[in-house]
Amino acid sequence: MNFTVLEGLLTRTVPGPGGCLLWTGARNTKGYPYVRHAGRMVGAHRLAYVLTRGDLDPADAVHHRCGVPSCINPHHLQASTHVHNAIDMHARRALEQRIADLERALRIHAPNHPLLHHTEISEEEFREPDVIDPTD
Ligand SMILES: [Zn+2]
Repeated sequence: MNFTVLEGLLTRTVPGPGGCLLWTGARNTKGYPYVRHAGRMVGAHRLAYVLTRGDLDPADAVHHRCGVPSCINPHHLQASTHVHNAIDMHARRALEQRIADLERALRIHAPNHPLLHHTEISEEEFREPDVIDPTD
């Protein structure tokens, strides 16, 4: 962690509601904080993220969980990879829930539907019978 750069960033903030650290330096038209770093203008929130949380894929956006674009509090920042992971997880859970709901409905309205039996193959059904009874 680069304390000097981070401290430099933090001296250019004022405390806001909810623990936000509001950037007092340059901002773009959308209100996002900008700072000159290593000879170029970078998002101050992105820089704060990298200094405290580690590497950031240049393609990844840094989102504000607090919803305040000028905030650079690292605890309020989240890289979009994590956001996408969270969305994927929620989508998967929603899908699993939907499948469970549909199965429940099918059990009530069409208890003999073959789809229900495909999902409930017991160990016995997999096992070959030891003796094949031709009268069966
Ligand atoms: Zn914040």
